[in-house]
Amino acid sequence: MIPRGNPESWPTMSAASRAVLREIIVHGALPRAELAARLGLSKPSLTRITRSLVEDDFLLEGGTELRGGLGRPSELLHLRADSRRFVGLKLTGDHLYAVVSDLAATIIDAHDEPLTDRSVAAVLHQISEVVSGFQKGWGPLTGIGVALAGTIQGTGRSRTVRESAFLGWTDVPLVRLLEDATGLPSSIDNDVQALTAAEHWFGAGAGLQTLAVITVGVGIGCGLVINDELVEGAHGTPGNISHIIVNPGGPYCDRGHRGCASSYLTNSAIAGALPRDPSGERTYEDALQQASAGRPAALQAFADAGFALGCLIGTVSNLTDPAKVILSGDGLAVYEFAEADVWRGIRHTYEGALGRIDLDVQPFDFGEWARGGAVLAIRNALSA
Ligand SMILES: [Zn+2]
Repeated sequence: MIPRGNPESWPTMSAASRAVLREIIVHGALPRAELAARLGLSKPSLTRITRSLVEDDFLLEGGTELRGGLGRPSELLHLRADSRRFVGLKLTGDHLYAVVSDLAATIIDAHDEPLTDRSVAAVLHQISEVVSGFQKGWGPLTGIGVALAGTIQGTGRSRTVRESAFLGWTDVPLVRLLEDATGLPSSIDNDVQALTAAEHWFGAGAGLQTLAVITVGVGIGCGLVINDELVEGAHGTPGNISHIIVNPGGPYCDRGHRGCASSYLTNSAIAGALPRDPSGERTYEDALQQASAGRPAALQAFADAGFALGCLIGTVSNLTDPAKVILSGDGLAVYEFAEADVWRGIRHTYEGALGRIDLDVQPFDFGEWARGGAVLAIRNALSA
């Protein structure tokens, strides 16, 4: 049985209604007066909009707040976060991570399982089963968002996975397939883009107009927010920073560049910089252990990786002048072991005053990627 969605759970809204809802989702409870001022709405318009948002269970009225020295209380509008539920998914080459979130992107359920088969049909079947299981537990769902490593292009129902190396997919019209399989409004994006969207609305970058997110780990990722919009690029591939040269005399990466960021900073590059032991095996876990034990070669590998990371942060900051740079991913150990080298790399490249770099290191667990998927679904619902 194919699970069916509940299209009534998200009514058609005017642009102004969506703007009001988005403002409260991103900034939390706001007084009416402030909301009207921020969005340039007249009092009667705002009253009309909030009345229908309250009727549709999106908002709650409650409490008052005295604004500044005016002494006039203004009623607060709160988000009814528990009124809608979304599914977020992250696909890797061999695993599916899934969460249910509310309208404030708070995770209320989570599930993960190995991918039994990477074929598109098998993955769609597995996703349908997971969604169906969530629907049994939580009732109607409003939408689904899928994050994966790869290039995503197109809009609306034609949005397509151009390529995903980990899944071995090319030209998969995943939104259409997901909607046909689950009956739910669906959205997809690159996983770093999804994480950036999550930080921009719900995380350390909530409400910022200009933001850079850099992820380190198996790969290096970069997502950008400029003028309050997630940068999508002309070809769905913004933020490619992995192969920026940081030392022309450095080691070779797998693409044959000398001294690019990838040749120092990826988990495999850090492992590869360790001296060979008799067994010949060098893993990232070995590098972590050896650095924790104070072994100089491992500490040097992290120091070089940290310098490379700093160069990337400096370069991205030169290009976009972000209010904040959020650092995340499963390779954050590089910052723990080599914070001073990260800042050495920033100093080496950044052309502005160092005090302008607001670097925010966000603890990471794998569920964050799936939460990013849920945020895609929330944004999709709000852009309809
Ligand atoms: Zn390279």
